[in-house]
Amino acid sequence: MNILLVEDERALASAIKRILEKNGYRVDAVEDGQSAVDYAEAIEYQLIILDVMLPKMDGFEVLRILRRDKLRTPILMLTARSAVRDKVAGLNGGADDYLTKPFDTEELLARVGALTRRTGEVVLDELSFGDLTLNVNSALLCCGGNSVQLSKKEFELMRMFLSNPANVLTKDAIISRVWGMDSEATDNNVEVYVSFLRKKMAFLKSGYTIRNIQKIGYRIEETEK
Ligand code: CA
Repeated sequence: MNILLVEDERALASAIKRILEKNGYRVDAVEDGQSAVDYAEAIEYQLIILDVMLPKMDGFEVLRILRRDKLRTPILMLTARSAVRDKVAGLNGGADDYLTKPFDTEELLARVGALTRRTGEVVLDELSFGDLTLNVNSALLCCGGNSVQLSKKEFELMRMFLSNPANVLTKDAIISRVWGMDSEATDNNVEVYVSFLRKKMAFLKSGYTIRNIQKIGYRIEETEK
């Protein structure tokens, strides 16, 4: 279950991230409105937790853009202000729920649980695209009757590609997801792991590969015949 957390107060953001991760959620955290839009439109999340007061673009504007772009991910707004006006604005703008700061852990988890259940998502054991199937429990990548074991990083990377087959994934988004936002991984690490995956896909005789999209990133695509 993937959650995008948008909160510019670092202490609070890391506390929320820790609580959610302890409870089995996977969390990407960003600190400003523009990054929130970029991430939400590039990666599939089951929930977005969105602070109202943010640098660059506030939470209401982020909400407006995401709903305008037909993103239907549930959104939980965080507001420091308990003013009824804010709550009404958020809900009218297409937010699913709101939480007033400060809030306690139990309340946060209850809201998150309710919103992620509402989407009716089933946790899949397998992810498939084209002729490829990735077993999420064993990290085996399969094609036809063949399979190959992926390492942890290869698995995370492949999972990202198979979950977002229509999208170009930027190197920054990949680093943040696979290595973590605080890591020192560089574009070079991404290139190396993409080449590992390409070799494994070729070994499986898959009709798909990971293509370089110049200056933007990568996308999984059918191999040119
Ligand atoms: Ca804030």
